[in-house]
Amino acid sequence: MTTVTNLGFPRIGAKRELKRALEAFWSGESSARSLQDTASGLRERHWQLQREAGVDVPPSNDFSFYDQVLDAAFLFDAIPARYRALADAEPLAGYFAMARGVQRDGYDLHALEMTKWLDTNYHYLVPELQAGQGFALRGDKPLAEYRQAKALGIETRPVLIGPVTFLLLSKTTDGSRALDLLDALLPVYVQLLGQLKDAGAQWVQLDEPTLVQDLDEATRAAFTHAYAVLAKAARPKVLVATYFGALDDNLPLAASLPVDGLHVDLVRAPEQLDAVIKALPPGRVLSAGLVNGRNIWRTHLDNALVLARYAHGHVGSDALWLAPSCSLLHSPVDLDLEKKLDDELHSWLAFSRQKLQELRVLADAIDAPARAEDALAHSRACIESRRRSPRVHKAAVAARLAALTAADAQRHSPYPQRHLAQAGALQLPRFPTTTIGSFPQTLEVREARASNKSGKLSDVDYDAFLATQTEHCVRVQEQIGLDVLVHGEFERNDMVEYFGEQLDGFAFTKNGWVQSYGSRCVKPPVIFGDVTRPQPMTVRWSQYAQSLTDRPMKGMLTGPVTVLQWSFVRDDQSRADTCRQIALALRDEVLDLEAAGIGVIQIDEPAIREGLPLRRAQWREYLDWAVEAFRISASGVRDATQIHTHMCYSEFNDIIHSVAAMDADVISIETSRSRMELLDAFVRFQYPNEIGPGVYDIHSPRVPDKEEMLALLRKAAEVLRPEQIWVNPDCGLKTRGWKETRAALEALVAAARQLREET
Ligand code: GLN
Ligand code: ZN
Repeated sequence: MTTVTNLGFPRIGAKRELKRALEAFWSGESSARSLQDTASGLRERHWQLQREAGVDVPPSNDFSFYDQVLDAAFLFDAIPARYRALADAEPLAGYFAMARGVQRDGYDLHALEMTKWLDTNYHYLVPELQAGQGFALRGDKPLAEYRQAKALGIETRPVLIGPVTFLLLSKTTDGSRALDLLDALLPVYVQLLGQLKDAGAQWVQLDEPTLVQDLDEATRAAFTHAYAVLAKAARPKVLVATYFGALDDNLPLAASLPVDGLHVDLVRAPEQLDAVIKALPPGRVLSAGLVNGRNIWRTHLDNALVLARYAHGHVGSDALWLAPSCSLLHSPVDLDLEKKLDDELHSWLAFSRQKLQELRVLADAIDAPARAEDALAHSRACIESRRRSPRVHKAAVAARLAALTAADAQRHSPYPQRHLAQAGALQLPRFPTTTIGSFPQTLEVREARASNKSGKLSDVDYDAFLATQTEHCVRVQEQIGLDVLVHGEFERNDMVEYFGEQLDGFAFTKNGWVQSYGSRCVKPPVIFGDVTRPQPMTVRWSQYAQSLTDRPMKGMLTGPVTVLQWSFVRDDQSRADTCRQIALALRDEVLDLEAAGIGVIQIDEPAIREGLPLRRAQWREYLDWAVEAFRISASGVRDATQIHTHMCYSEFNDIIHSVAAMDADVISIETSRSRMELLDAFVRFQYPNEIGPGVYDIHSPRVPDKEEMLALLRKAAEVLRPEQIWVNPDCGLKTRGWKETRAALEALVAAARQLREET
C-alpha cells in the first residue's frame, strides 16, 4: 500500500488558539500549566485531524511554542551565555527570552536575531554559536511529543532540523565557521536518535532544505561526513527532507547519503523526478512532495497522479510515500472554516486539511482506483471551473499585457534631466526632509477602523474621523518643519491588504492565517484572477491632504513586487505576469495621482530582496522582471513628477545593480541601526540618483537626538554628493507613539538644518 505522510502541520491552531495562549501567558494572565495544556490539546487535535484526513504517518515534534529552529538550539543547549542563568533557573522563561528578549527581575536581555526561513515569509530565530562551544541534550521535547502521540495510538515520525542545515542557518559571534562545530554537534544527534529508537520510533525526519541551495565543496563534505556518522548510530530509519526547490547539482550528494529515505519537492521542481528515481539506490524510500505546502490552491490531481504513477512504477508501493511538498506550516489550517467565501472560489482552494485529503485520493488512485474515482472527478470539475472562469481571465488584461513595450518601463528622460525638472517644480531646500508614510496608528485609529468594520461607526463618521486625523498629521508636520509631507496612512489597515481590497482579482479569507513568527500570523490576500483597478484607490486622501497645505504632499503606494510577495499568488501563470498586472493597475493609480496634483509619489518595495530565488543562477531572471514591474508602475509620469521608492530590512551589496535599475528619483532605506553601513553598496556603485539613508530607528521607542542624527548625516555626506541626500527615518512611524515621533522628527529637522549650514 502506498503510504501517505506529512512533513509538518501548522501549530498555531485553526483559530489561532496557540497565539492566544502564548499572549495570555506572556502578559501574566495565565499560567505555564494552562499554556502547556493548550499546546498538548492542539497537538492531539492535529494528529487526530491528520489521521482522519487519511495520513498514515503524521509528524511529531513539528509543534513549537515559538519556532522549530529555536527549539533545536535549546534542545542542543546552544544557549548563548547571556540567557543561561535564566534558562537554568526557569527553562520556559529562558526559552522565551531567547525568542523575544526579557526585561524584568534584573534581567535585560535582547532576543536572538530573527530572519526569514529560506524563501518563505516565516521567520526563524538565528542560533548564536561560538568556536569551541559544546552541545548537550537539554530536556526531552522530541521524545515527549512522540510518546504523547503513541499514547493516543498514533505512530508518528519525529521531525528535527538536520545537523548541517542547523549549522548553516546559525551565525557565529566570533567570525568562526559554524560548520566547524559539526563534530561537536553530531554526538548529540546520535544520542537523541538512540533515545527515539528506544522509545519505539520507526522513522525520524531530518530536514535539510539547504540541499536545494548552492553548496561549496566543504559544505558537501560536511553532509557526507555528518550522515556517515549518523549511519553508524543505533537509530530509527532516517528520512532526509529537502524542499523549496530542485536538488540539481546536489542530487548525487543527497542520493549518496547513507539514510533510508529522501523527500523531494515535486511541486517546485517536478522535472527532477526522473533524475531522483535514477539516482536513488534500490530500496530507498522516495517521499514525493506532490501537493503544494506553500499555497492555497486545490491540486491538479490528474497531473500529480502522472508523477505519482511514474514513481510508483519505478520504486513500487513499499518505497513510495506521498507527501506535501514541504511542511504545511506555510498553509492555513482548514478551508471548511471559510464560510464567507463564495462557493465557486471556495471550490478552487485547499488548506492543510484538504491538502492531506488530496494526498489520500492520490494514494487510493494508485492502490484501489475505484475508491478514488468520485473524488478525482469532483476535483477535475473544480479545476476546470477555475480554468475557464471569466473571473480569472479577462481579455482586456491579457491584451494590455501583450501590448506592453519597453517604452512603458522607461521614464521620458534620464535622471539628470528629471532632476532639473523636479528641482524647478518642487523648490526644495538642500537635504530635504520627509517621512516614509505612516504616522502613529494609535489605539483610537485602530478602534475607529474596527467599529467601522463591524458597522458600529457609520462610513460618514469614519470618514470624518480620518479627515481629522489626516489634518492633524499635516499640521504637525508643518509645525515640525518637514519639507515633503505625507497624509499619514490612517485609512490603511495594512500596506498590501488596503490595495488588495480595492483591486479586482483579489479575495480575502477569514481564517487563512499563516505563522510569520512566534505568535504573529499574517493573512495573505489571495490573488485568484487577472488584476484590474475598478477605480482610484488613494487619490481621495492624497488630494485632500494636499488641499490642506502648500508644501508638496507625497502620494503613497505599495509596489507591485511587494503586493505579489505578500499574497498567495496564482499557480496558473508566472509570478512575473501576475506582477506585471499589478504594476499596470498601479501605473494607472500613479497617473491619477499626478493628474490630481500630486507631484511626489512613493512606491514602496520593501519585499524585493526577499523574493530572491534560493539559487543564484535564477537571480537575474527574477530581478529583471521585478525591476521591470516597478518601472512599469512608475514610468508613466512627467519628468517633473518625482518618484520615490522605499526599501527596508534589506542588504544591498549583491542587488545594487537592480536597485539602481529601478531608476527611482529618490530611494529611502533603513540605515540607522547599521550606522550607515548599508549605504556602502550605494557608494561603491556610485549610485546616481537621490538617497534618503534612514537616521531614525523607528523599531525602538528611543528618541534619537539631533547630534546623533547629525553624526549619521555627516557620515553620509562624506560619501555622497550633497544634492543626493534626503533626510528621513528608517521606515514608517505607525508603530510609534505621537510624543516620541514628534520629538524625534523635530530633532531630525534640526539636524538637516544644521547640515545645510555646515555644508
Ligand atoms: N509607507 C509604509 C509606511 O510608512 C512603508 C512600510 C514599510 O516599508 N514596511 O508604513
Ligand atoms: Zn520600511
